[in-house]
Amino acid sequence: MPEKIYQKKSECCGCETCANACPKGIIVMEADAEGFFYPKVTDPDECINCYRCEKVCPFKNASEVPNFQERAIAGYSLSQDEIKASASGGLGTSIAKGFIKQGGVVFGVTYTDDCLGIEYRRAERAEDLEQFRTSKYAQSRKNDVYQKVRADLDAGKKVLFVGLPCDSYALQLFLGKQYENLYVCTLICHGPTSLLVHQQYLQGLIDKHGDCVESFSVRYKKDGWKPYYIRAKFSDGYEHLEKFAESVYGVAFLYMKRPSCNVCPIKRSKIHSDITIGDYHLAAGGKLKPYNPDGVSSAFVHTEKGDYLVSIADNFLVEEIPVKNALYSEAYHKAIQAKANRAKFGRTIAEKGLTAAASLRSIKVIDRMDEMKRALRRGGAKVKKLILGRK
Ligand SMILES: Cc1cc2nc3c(=O)[nH]c(=O)nc-3n(C[C@H](O)[C@H](O)[C@H](O)COP(=O)(O)OP(=O)(O)OC[C@H]3O[C@@H](n4cnc5c(N)ncnc54)[C@H](O)[C@@H]3O)c2cc1C
Repeated sequence: MPEKIYQKKSECCGCETCANACPKGIIVMEADAEGFFYPKVTDPDECINCYRCEKVCPFKNASEVPNFQERAIAGYSLSQDEIKASASGGLGTSIAKGFIKQGGVVFGVTYTDDCLGIEYRRAERAEDLEQFRTSKYAQSRKNDVYQKVRADLDAGKKVLFVGLPCDSYALQLFLGKQYENLYVCTLICHGPTSLLVHQQYLQGLIDKHGDCVESFSVRYKKDGWKPYYIRAKFSDGYEHLEKFAESVYGVAFLYMKRPSCNVCPIKRSKIHSDITIGDYHLAAGGKLKPYNPDGVSSAFVHTEKGDYLVSIADNFLVEEIPVKNALYSEAYHKAIQAKANRAKFGRTIAEKGLTAAASLRSIKVIDRMDEMKRALRRGGAKVKKLILGRK
């Protein structure tokens, strides 16, 4: 067996299933210089050639869902506070709340207590769901989440797993059989950045302020749905606020995705889940209904279990929408190509850190060109403003 389970970095999505499934325990996850985790075989001589690592790999086993279906819905929580605290319209948490009310357990992604880590955890009480709320934009660690899900399923519990399409498919391959009591909710995903980005950004704030961070968000809704803000709340009450897109974190999120995300095969009819949730971007600005100024969720419902999840969404307004409107979220149906200078960004972050990488002149030029292109699409007045400079 090769010392590497993948040949190119773009072939590994970092789901960590191979490390969790290896019966000899000889696969560990190690971060590369960009901060993305990859499997490493520690002792190739111990390998028994069972190929379990390959059988549970979502990239190696990417496949069409048999009888794939999709209908689209959109909506938002009926509590304005809940919409504000959620990434989009709060559908993820509303479904999770409804699921717990029905006696189930939920797995989702949270920041660790010091906010420096990001990981999957289990929740069985409604109050434990708050940690999952809103998007974390750096890749999560899986720890033993797949084993925990299996233990709950084998104990006969109803389990809802909310995660990225690669992690969710990885879980199903890890389980190796269909469970009637498993419900899977995936997120539309154009790819996370690395944990190193998250940690360097946050550590920078901690060093500057000299205190612990109590809560952190990259999608804080200061003035409604968009633009997103970063908010770090320190234990002494101090609050750091910054527009996400203008922050070094935001630049890294655009420029330094995991290489596998730029060629991700787990899209649309290859997403193995009951429901896929995302933003209803097309409704932003109130051009379409349903609309809420603090955020709107959209979802593709794939199965009867997906119908059930929508039906139990707690305190949530749901409307059918045309599938073509929901397809506006491109990341649902195609991998988002790497930006020019992706490699340079990665080299710079490895050698000089996040701030140096995000300040690269070439990155700023590309950003400005992208902004111009977007403005051109929107209309003349904005272009003029951009050319003449903005105040
Ligand atoms: C990396 C990333 C990229 C995304 N890209 C797009 C996109 O291109 N287009 C689009 O429409 N939507 C995208 N989304 C989804 C969107 O940001 C919202 O997460 C989604 O609309 C759910 O919002 P909500 O208000 O319904 O959920 P909430 O009620 O806020 O709940 C959020 C749920 O997401 C889960 N979650 C949060 N972060 C992660 C993570 N890093 N990994 C796994 N699960 C996580 C939580 O466990 C929770 O269950 C992306 C999300 C992520 C994490």
